[in-house]
Amino acid sequence: MTTEKGNGDSQFGHPDVDVVVVGAGFSGLYLLQRLRSQGFSTKAFESAADVGGTWYWNRYPGARCDILSIDYSYSFDSELETEWQWSERYATQPEILRYLQHVAEKHDLRRDIEFSTRIESATWDEKTSLWRLRTDQGNETSCRYYVMATGCLSAPKTLDVNGVDRFGGATYATSRWPHEGVDFSGMRVAVIGTGSSGVQSIPLIAEQAAELTVFQRTPNFSIPAHNGPVDPKKLAGKEGRHAEYREAARWSFAGVPGEPGEKGALQASGEERQAVYDRVWDTGELIATVTSFNDLLVNAASNQTIAEFVRGKIRSTVNDPEVAETLCPVDFPLGTKRLCLDTNYYETYNLPHVRLVDLRKTAITTITETGIDTDSESFEFDAIVFATGFDAMTGAIAAVDITGREGATLRDKWADGPKTYLGLTIAGFPNLFIVTGPGSPSVMSNMMVSIEQHVEWICDCLEYLRRDGLELIEPTKAAEAGWEQHVNDYAGITLFPQANSWYMGANVPGKPRVFLPYIGGVDVYRAICDEVVSRDYLGFTLEGPGKTRLNDGIIRPVQPDVTLVLQAIESLGLPPIEEMSVEDARAFAATMAAERPPGPEVGDIVDDVLPGAVGDLAYRLYRPASPGPHPIVAYFHGGGWVLGGPDSDDPFCRDLCVQSNAIIISVDYRHAPEARFPAAPDDGFAAVQWIAENARNLGGVPGQLAVAGWSAGANIAAVVCHMARDAGGPEITGQMLVTPVVDCDFSRHSYVENADGYSLTTELMHWFWDHYADPADRQDPKASPLRAHDLANLPPALVVTCEFDPLRDEGATYAEALAKAGVQVRHLPCRGQIHMSLMAVDMVVSGAAARAEMGVAFRQFFDA
Ligand code: NAP
Repeated sequence: MTTEKGNGDSQFGHPDVDVVVVGAGFSGLYLLQRLRSQGFSTKAFESAADVGGTWYWNRYPGARCDILSIDYSYSFDSELETEWQWSERYATQPEILRYLQHVAEKHDLRRDIEFSTRIESATWDEKTSLWRLRTDQGNETSCRYYVMATGCLSAPKTLDVNGVDRFGGATYATSRWPHEGVDFSGMRVAVIGTGSSGVQSIPLIAEQAAELTVFQRTPNFSIPAHNGPVDPKKLAGKEGRHAEYREAARWSFAGVPGEPGEKGALQASGEERQAVYDRVWDTGELIATVTSFNDLLVNAASNQTIAEFVRGKIRSTVNDPEVAETLCPVDFPLGTKRLCLDTNYYETYNLPHVRLVDLRKTAITTITETGIDTDSESFEFDAIVFATGFDAMTGAIAAVDITGREGATLRDKWADGPKTYLGLTIAGFPNLFIVTGPGSPSVMSNMMVSIEQHVEWICDCLEYLRRDGLELIEPTKAAEAGWEQHVNDYAGITLFPQANSWYMGANVPGKPRVFLPYIGGVDVYRAICDEVVSRDYLGFTLEGPGKTRLNDGIIRPVQPDVTLVLQAIESLGLPPIEEMSVEDARAFAATMAAERPPGPEVGDIVDDVLPGAVGDLAYRLYRPASPGPHPIVAYFHGGGWVLGGPDSDDPFCRDLCVQSNAIIISVDYRHAPEARFPAAPDDGFAAVQWIAENARNLGGVPGQLAVAGWSAGANIAAVVCHMARDAGGPEITGQMLVTPVVDCDFSRHSYVENADGYSLTTELMHWFWDHYADPADRQDPKASPLRAHDLANLPPALVVTCEFDPLRDEGATYAEALAKAGVQVRHLPCRGQIHMSLMAVDMVVSGAAARAEMGVAFRQFFDA
């Protein structure tokens, strides 16, 4: 909700310029062009002597883009699309630099750029609401808005090798290559580092050097670029439809048009997989490779298939098997460190004058006056090339002394990892924008698409502020924390955190270990940024003379994998269950159940029947693989007393069996509307009595019996505990209630807040209750156990609730009531989850931690 108030005491002084931009690479140039066209006075500062950013500095041999040039180029100027023709699929650094110089000339941008000037400090002046900047030339400038367009890979990593200054020969860093080039002819050359810069430069250095020794700490995966003239087919796909093509890029996963694989790698046959991998290998495009199946970056076993394919290629290319093995990455999933794109990289190791040193077997001890010493050998060199990477994503921003509100510095704020809202703005640092900052897709995408989107978002924002007489924008702390959480949640469901990559800050000693970019995709991210605007700048405070607008809130509080499941369900366009007949609803539930992943393997599964209150009840028993006997959990499935059967929560029961190392007996019960209240709890109680009596025959430990259930099944489990207590047995050692129905009151906040949009709706709960029990019966504690007068002496409980569930508040209230009655109870609230999340084993990966805790809870019940 937006709140407005006057702010008579805030001041807005007059700046030297409206906007200062730092950096004159792809981002800075477009910012200048755009801001100028919108009538903002703008000045850019650039530490280099000319435009180009990363393409100004990285002039090492072989430097090229690794996204096709027809994609890695501006889309904002439609004339550029036709007046500039790329000579190769992947243009060289000189050609990309010429392109940027051409853009700067065409739009007359240099006149507003102060070159060879570095911004050293930026301080927010609270009294005037201006940024005051100081340059390394000793000059000062003030501005209203301050934009860091400093690039993600522009601050070289400080060399962390002993003795760097001692070396008497020549040293070069790929990230700061001499403009005049280097001739290595006849030299003994060392290259340290085998990331993208090393992989690109090593084959060309090898062409000149008399001897080349490559020092490799971690091998990287690389695929061949197949460079050459621009593919006429690709060009034809764009020719005459540039706008459409670029729009497709904007709404793609990684900023390049293309169809990602529709299935998981393990869903394909071996031959099919081989054909797909052969095709991507022959194509030579990074994004098409990592999206060739839809689960390569989230499923370790799937990733192994492509990793092994590439390792096979390395082994078949490199003649010496030992060298080939040294070049094979084994300790991180493919794509979780930036995949490299090469020309003759692996072939280079077949040359007689090229040697590979494995630093994992023999570490560098020091650089000497004449070469490099390792644990086991001394090497002599004429030149050493450092291809050792960057302090990525945060290095260039933190290099400026930035001080925000109340004297707080950005370096302190980011000491434990960067915090931003949308990767664009920072709480406590008003009117500061970052282009492709941490928390945005940036390096996970075609940078050009991400840069243009950020530039346009920032410029549109400034236009909006001006139109509404506002002069200040700052994200709220809550919005920023929510975004940080969302970025981490997304990373957490992928394989990325498994790698020691610069994405994780792991390449710089002492840098906090957090996943820096946003991995949700540029399409998803663009939609989020647009939504923030359409919801009146959700998560921001806006201020102008005499007014303040606060619109606090979190843009994506639901777990990302839950969102994907909800979107998949929505895309089916199915009618709501509550509009179906009971028969159709049951058929629908069965169809959905057949589609889901099966869950983990268990030792044994037995289907049988047991006597219920009025007739036999089917059950399914899941036995752990470990030797028995085991404790037993009597489990009641969900489905609103109307839907489901003993196998309807199959994946969850399997998971529970594995996690708890207990026998799970999923018992059916009579369903409504054929058998209304109290048929279900009566059956549940009869089943538990029978299981207790037959524990030994079932492979159980007599006296070690717990109950569990989900949703309406948790209602039955809870009621069975009351019935067993009141009947004097059987003894129940614990109860686990997952998102339970424990009351018939629809007025609780969670019912209102989550009435619609999270799969279980308030309408559907009405439908279930209407089928199950008459209004008068619903008050009965056997239907609404929260209404029981006495909750004392019930078994220890674990109550699990989900944030976006209509049933959340009644579950939480039941946990509180149990605790008040002296029952040992633990409440496990699951952030960002919905009613069905925890059942969706292998679909809602973010629920795995809660499922593991359930297993622990059972072990504790039984140990106690
Ligand atoms: P990088 O990927 O971080 O690679 C640095 C390399 O140096 C790694 O092999 C690293 O080993 C090694 N290294 C670092 N410190 C070392 C030390 N003290 N002793 C021994 N080895 C050390 O850096 P980069 O190659 O410059 O690439 C960075 C990113 O820039 C790329 O991932 C890519 O996004 C971008 N880039 C793109 C292109 C392109 O094709 N367009 C070209 C160049 C760069 P560890 O892995 O063991 O740390």
